[in-house]
Formats: sequence, C-alpha cells, structure tokens
Amino acid sequence: MSTPATFDSHNPATGELFATYRNTSADEVNEAVAKAHLAGQLWGASSFAARKSLLLQWAKLLTKNIDEMAALICSETGKPTSDAILEITLAIEHVAWAAKHAEQVLGTQRRPSGLLMLNMKSRVERSPYGVVGVIGPWNYPIFTPMGSIGYALAAGNAVVFKPSEYTPGIGQWLADSFAEISHIPNLFICIPGLADTGRALTQSAVGKIAFTGSTATAKKVAAAAAERMTPTVLECGGKDAVIVADDANISRAAEFALWSAMSNAGQTCIGAERVYVVESVADRFLDEISAMARNIRASSDGNYGPATMPSQIGVIRSHVLDAQSHGATFLVGGPESVGDRFVQPIIMTNVAENSTAMTEETFGPTLAINRVANISEAIAKANASRYGLGASVWSRRNGNKIASQLQCGMVSVNSVIAFAAVASVPFGGVKDSGNGRIHGPEGLMEFTYPRTVVSESFRIPIAFTTFKRTKFVDKFIRKAIELLH
Ligand code: NAD
Repeated sequence: MSTPATFDSHNPATGELFATYRNTSADEVNEAVAKAHLAGQLWGASSFAARKSLLLQWAKLLTKNIDEMAALICSETGKPTSDAILEITLAIEHVAWAAKHAEQVLGTQRRPSGLLMLNMKSRVERSPYGVVGVIGPWNYPIFTPMGSIGYALAAGNAVVFKPSEYTPGIGQWLADSFAEISHIPNLFICIPGLADTGRALTQSAVGKIAFTGSTATAKKVAAAAAERMTPTVLECGGKDAVIVADDANISRAAEFALWSAMSNAGQTCIGAERVYVVESVADRFLDEISAMARNIRASSDGNYGPATMPSQIGVIRSHVLDAQSHGATFLVGGPESVGDRFVQPIIMTNVAENSTAMTEETFGPTLAINRVANISEAIAKANASRYGLGASVWSRRNGNKIASQLQCGMVSVNSVIAFAAVASVPFGGVKDSGNGRIHGPEGLMEFTYPRTVVSESFRIPIAFTTFKRTKFVDKFIRKAIELLH
C-alpha cells in the first residue's frame, strides 16, 4: 500500500474538515533527524544559562499566545476553551521549571572514591542524547508532549516531534513558535504524519524515543527501538482507581472523582475509571456522585466535548455493554448514553471485576464504582489491574499510608490529578502503563546519560591495575578489605 502524501484532520464535534497536513515520509523523517543532529551538537555544547534563557523566552512567547493555541486545540480536540487554557498553562509551567532546574540537576557531580581508591577523583557528567524523537497523543496535545519536549530541550537535546494525526496543528504551531526565537535552526522540528511517520521515527537515528500513547502502540515502539538499542521512555494508558475510606470527606471525594472521570470526555490517562468505596460510606458516596453527575452534560458548549477519536466510541460502548451483561447496575445513564460523537455521563455500580469496564482502559466519561468491605480489599483490587499509572486516595487520617501500598507511579491524596501540575515531581507509570519518567529532576535525567570520569589525583606506591602488581599489594588489599568489613 502506498503512503498518502497528505492527511486530513477533522473537527470532532461536527466531523467537518479542519485542515490538511503533509504526511511526512520515512526519507523525510531521516532527513529531519539528520538536521536535528547538527542543531543538537550546537545546543548541547551551549551553556546551561544560554539554554535557560531561550526556553524562558519561549515560555513567555507561549504565554502571550495562549488564546491562539487554545482555539487551535479546541478545533482539533473539541474540548472546552477553559480546559485547553488550563492544559496550556500547565505546559508552560513545566517548560519554565525544566529551564530553571536543568543546571542544578544535570551539572557535573563529584562522588567519593572510597578508601581503596583514595588517590582517585571521581565525577559523573550527564550528556544529552543528541536528538530525542517525541511521539505524542491527542488527548492533551500540548501538555503531554511538552513533558518530553521541554525537558529534552532543557537537557541539551534537539527534538523531532511526531504529533498525533488528530492534533497536528498544535504540534506544528509549537515548533513554529520555537523557531521564531531560536538562533539555532532545526532544534525543534515537527513531522506531522500518520502511524507510519511515527514508526519511521522509531527506526531512525534518534538517541532516544519519548512515546506517549496507548499501551498497544508502546509495545510496537519498544520493539522497533530495540532493533537499534534506542532507549525509550513510555507513557501509556491507565485504569486509575479512586479509593474512598470511611473517614473521607465524602462530598469532596464525590465532586473530585466525578471531574477526574468525566472532564475532557473521560479522555485523561490519569483520569478516574474505577472507584472502591468502603461499605459504611458507600450509599452516601453513590447518592452524592450520582446527583452531581445528573447535572453534567456533554455538548459543544457543555461541561465537556465529543470523543476526539471517533473509533473510541465503539470501545466505550463495548465496555458499557460488557458491564451490563455481567450484571452492572446503572445509576446515571447507560448504553443509550453513548451517541455518535458525544457520550453523556455514565455511572455504574456492582461492576464485575473481570468485565472489560474494569480491566481495560475505557477512555470515556464512565465511572465504575464498587463497594469494598475495608481498605485492604480496596488496595488489593486497585493493584489487581495490569495498569499502574495514577491513583487517588480519600481519607482524613490514612491517606499517605494507603498511597504507599499502591502499585502505581503517582497518587493524589484528598485530591485528584494534582501530581501532574507539580513540576518538581516525576510523572509516569509501572506495569502496562509504561516505564521511565517525565517531569521533575527524574524527567531531566531521563533525557541524558551518565558518563563516569575517574582520574588520578596523586600517585601512591600501590597499583592494582597492572601486571606488575606485587604480592605486597595483594596482601594489602586483603588486609584493607578485612579491616573495612
Ligand atoms: P496511540 O497509541 O493510538 O497513538 C499515539 C501516537 O503514536 C500517535 O502519534 C500515533 O500516530 C503514533 N503511532 C501509531 N502507531 C505507531 C507505530 N507503530 N510506531 C510509532 N508511532 C505510532 O494513542 P492515542 O490514541 O493517540 O492516545 C491515547 C492513549 O494515550 C491512551 O491510552 C492514553 O491513556 C495515553 N496517554 C498516556 C499518557 C501518559 O502520560 N501516561 C498521557 C496521555 C495519553
């Protein structure tokens, strides 16, 4: 099958054609990576101060253009303007944090050499990979890829970015805005395209791949990258659980869990998909969240917009029908809430733990709420998932204790999704939710590799690493280790 030269993007609320983009070919991807390598050499050799200055200038430029970016995001994803603005502000915060902290996190570190190597000086330098290939999704088309783009640039890499085919416009806009202020051409290149463009990037000469998207695609990306031993950071799907203890503030837990599940039409990787509520407070929680959900509407000017990717509608419907066939009770909405483009809120309870509504990522405005006898059962059920991205815990006294027992990368206590907005903490998952981290110091380190340099600072008459090693030296080593341990 021949590769199409262009592809169209559509407004998901109406299905109307929004714009047509170039479908970057494999040869063009390789050319872009080669150009980016030259740019990366200059950028990697520049000082932390110079990089910080350019990235802060970019943060300023993005801030000036929030409304233009928000309009573009709304047209491509269908999300409400206020959600787009929130997403952009968080992305800008991350760029600025990465710019300001790169030197502190990535600067060369002295390390103690130990008694046996007392005469050596040890240090660890961190080097950028050269070019980082970033592959992005459509659900948060600026916030999500910026967690890689901003941190990779701050760490001294050039970036070649393949945005989702559903949101190529905002991807191109980002690269164009960076080019406006960058004195180094091709430091951040956007390559719009379909899946094959992403595949070509994973097979190209990039130094690292930062992928955000579904687990199924992440496995293909990891396999392709393994052919060249290209390291990857994989940010994939989730099935985040909310745990509500008997000492929780029930009204707030209901209000925030509802927003976490339904905002952005449920298309949030770290959005609530399952709730485990302790029996003694379950009736109240179910009543409150159901009452609030009845006031939420999906429409072009409602609380949230359409499903951005039309094919997701089929997935949402199948999960809801599977829950129904396994005996779930619908408290708000039901299978009939799944329309052609918009999905109205669905709240279900008594959902079988083996139904796809509990085991697979639904990525729609649905929430499955099950009762549990106690917190131990809630923790066990939350951890039974093959995913391990984020979680939310509601308890006045035991939030941190419960959080520490969850098999996932991030937990909000008495809040939801809060960790995504804190630039100084790492973001990422375990199990099928991926590996590696973006954001925070860990996110900066992810886009560099360590180089150890150990050098002689003074000479001693005891040499280990030579064929001239004497019996005295052998005895000395033996004695020294016995004394030390
Ligand atoms: P997707 O996997 O369908 O696509 C992601 C990107 O990969 C797109 O740009 C796509 O063109 C590209 N791609 C497709 N096939 C490829 C291949 N073989 N090689 C290389 N690239 C390829 O995901 P999506 O539908 O765009 O995004 C939704 C998913 O992203 C959800 O599962 C969601 O949970 C996840 N997500 C995760 C995070 C996180 O940080 N963990 C954040 C946002 C979204």
